[in-house]
Amino acid sequence: MSTNAELFERAKLAIPGGVNSPVRAFGSVGGTPSFLVRAHGAYVTDAEGRDLVDLVASWGPAILGHAHPEVIEAVQDAASHGLSFGASTPAEALLAEEVERRVGPVERLRLVSTGTEATMTAIRIARGATGRDLLVKFDGHYHGHSDGLLVAAGSGLATLAMPGSAGIPEAVAATTLVVPYNDRDAIEAVFAEHGDRIAAVIVEAAAANMGVVEPDGDFNGFLARTAHAHGALLISDEVLTGFRVDAAGMWGIERWSGDEAPDLLTFGKVIGGGMPLAAVGGRRDLMELLAPLGPVYQAGTLSGNPVAVAAGLTTLRLATDDVYRRLDAAADTITAALADALRAEGVAHSISRVGSLFSVAFAETAPRSFDEVRQQEAFRYPPFFHAMRDAGVSLPPSVFEAWFVTAAHGDEPLARIVEALPAAARAAAAA
Ligand code: PMP
Repeated sequence: MSTNAELFERAKLAIPGGVNSPVRAFGSVGGTPSFLVRAHGAYVTDAEGRDLVDLVASWGPAILGHAHPEVIEAVQDAASHGLSFGASTPAEALLAEEVERRVGPVERLRLVSTGTEATMTAIRIARGATGRDLLVKFDGHYHGHSDGLLVAAGSGLATLAMPGSAGIPEAVAATTLVVPYNDRDAIEAVFAEHGDRIAAVIVEAAAANMGVVEPDGDFNGFLARTAHAHGALLISDEVLTGFRVDAAGMWGIERWSGDEAPDLLTFGKVIGGGMPLAAVGGRRDLMELLAPLGPVYQAGTLSGNPVAVAAGLTTLRLATDDVYRRLDAAADTITAALADALRAEGVAHSISRVGSLFSVAFAETAPRSFDEVRQQEAFRYPPFFHAMRDAGVSLPPSVFEAWFVTAAHGDEPLARIVEALPAAARAAAAA
């Protein structure tokens, strides 16, 4: 049996940084990442045979718990009929119908393979529909790694973005305007200055890639109204929140309609039930701009892959109200114990939560923007994280990530989390 450390060393000789997605390298918490070989229910098992209660849930998809028997059966059944045809299959429309039944503003849905593709396509539709180039995004929001979205804010209220990664042309970055989250003045300012050139605003329906940061009041509705007043569109990115914070995602919680509804929505994670599947959906007239009906091109060899569709459709069908009640109950238990443990050690903290999605910030008051997120005592997280891990609980390896529960987080895994928290809070206090 190889240890995690041996596997990491070997992977580093074959794969850049030993990982296929950067956060997995534990850069911000230090230490050796776990190499996982199995997952079941609320638990993951590493290569050393160690079980950990999982609060990552594959970054969201595993809403029912890992390896739910009915999902596995659906996948095995689909796989036994062939892995990929590059042609339409009957189940694709069933999945689209399920999403359209749940999420009001989705009149048509196109399946893709990753959240990155979904947002990229939504933006292309918005540009195609409006004939405009500029995109507004929020500082600290993540929408995947396409060029125009991987940008950093310059200084000032609403700024033309700068490349947030090497390899991104300045000219592409400059088509994105970055504004602080929850800042209505900044949105009004950016539309006052560039309104007739803005194709769309893209927003995480609730921010969850800088830790969870709730939208203030009717911020989402305000964005839609403001965009529409200037002939621009709103893209609500529900890749992370979709079918997780509610049966109908953030739309289900806020129920935007009319002028306050987003024009396009993106989904990922839960919609694929753990397989590579994501989607873009929205108003029929906009969605029908896509090829073959319209002039906006988009395609994919593996789009609507039958095995992925089987996983997604089965997951959504099993994600009943009872599942959402269990997710909420698990989040209630964990957030209460987390607050108790940190309070007992006098650690300044705030817990932000949307549905069952939450995160802790080491700051007295809940951050409302990325600037505020950055002001917290982030150095308290690595020792907290490692104390939890030593006690058999796998947290996201960064303070800037949400914690994900599953419907399989019942009494036993919850008890392990609750028991682990006091020592972790002590470690955070001592940092
Ligand atoms: N949008 C949001 C809100 C996300 O959280 C993510 C991934 N964490 C993405 C888009 C990109 O999805 P993917 O990693 O599947 O490309």
